[in-house]
Amino acid sequence: MIIQLDQNIGSAQLGHLVEKLQTIQYKTTEVKTQFNRYIIAVGKKEFDIRAIGTMPGIRDIHRVSDAYKLVSRKWRVSETVIDLGEEDKDGGGHYQIMAGPCSTEKTAAHRRANGVRILRGGVYKPRSSPYSFRGLGIPGLKLFYQKCREVGIKIVTEVMMVEQIENMIDYVDIFQVGARNSQNFNLLDALGEIDKPVLLKRGISGTINELLQAAEYIFSNGNERILLCERGIRSYEQAYRNTLDINAIPILKEKSHLPVIVDPSHGIGVRKHVEAVALAGVIAGADGVIVEVHETPEKAFSDGQQTLEFKEASRLYERLRQTNGFRKSIGLV
Ligand code: PEP
Ligand code: MN
Repeated sequence: MIIQLDQNIGSAQLGHLVEKLQTIQYKTTEVKTQFNRYIIAVGKKEFDIRAIGTMPGIRDIHRVSDAYKLVSRKWRVSETVIDLGEEDKDGGGHYQIMAGPCSTEKTAAHRRANGVRILRGGVYKPRSSPYSFRGLGIPGLKLFYQKCREVGIKIVTEVMMVEQIENMIDYVDIFQVGARNSQNFNLLDALGEIDKPVLLKRGISGTINELLQAAEYIFSNGNERILLCERGIRSYEQAYRNTLDINAIPILKEKSHLPVIVDPSHGIGVRKHVEAVALAGVIAGADGVIVEVHETPEKAFSDGQQTLEFKEASRLYERLRQTNGFRKSIGLV
């Protein structure tokens, strides 16, 4: 059960509420986010929620029996619009393209000319092999930030450890949690304590339920600004890198009020097919796309085989916008 509190509920009123829930053997957790205050109450006993809903200091109350609660659509029926800072938003009809190299390099932040407002690029790279390029770290991030700010573009970049957050926070607009860290609960807790949007990727073999529970970690620690990301899962198929789970997009949108981003680059891992699956993701309902783009993909420090060059990327952006317009025109979103 989720109970939304008035921001200025008195401590006596709150104490009274908690006491009442405890008498019926409900375990309570208070959640304070940057926008709201809640009590999450977990218990088995059936009771009339109006008995609580009418108490002073209570704004709203809903029964949500799923393991994830605050990120559930059973709690918030309308889609959440995530404020990405300044005029940029995602979700609830807003659409974003995030593009850039796998790892930040000497990258000309020319994307603005194509209307892309968010640049992606990792400075801490989780790599399957310890001998692969593992990113440029903080010096790379500072350079990346400076270049992006010069042209008024935002940065989404991966954080791998709790300890990195503090040094990164001034140079990051959206923190990315990579597939390999999707269930790093300490990291998720820590990202819940900051006020920056988080792009949370689905684990390589993570279920939809696990992704939503991972998002719940961030939300319940205080951060409501979460974007879910489908980036392909491991299957028995060997003909491509990952299996982009298109099904996950409408299912996530049904189960959660949070925006869903599709990553076609990791989703298929094959450059010439990235466009096709990106467009499929949009038709399936994604609120945005994150795609790997590089001036010369063959020279990229990592993931060149799935990276688009500028001309291919420009064509994709154009087609993404057309596709977004098309799905709106036929009432798909
Ligand atoms: C990336 O976005 O470059 C990345 C490493 O993604 P994932 O965590 O989905 O593999
Ligand atoms: Mn990559």
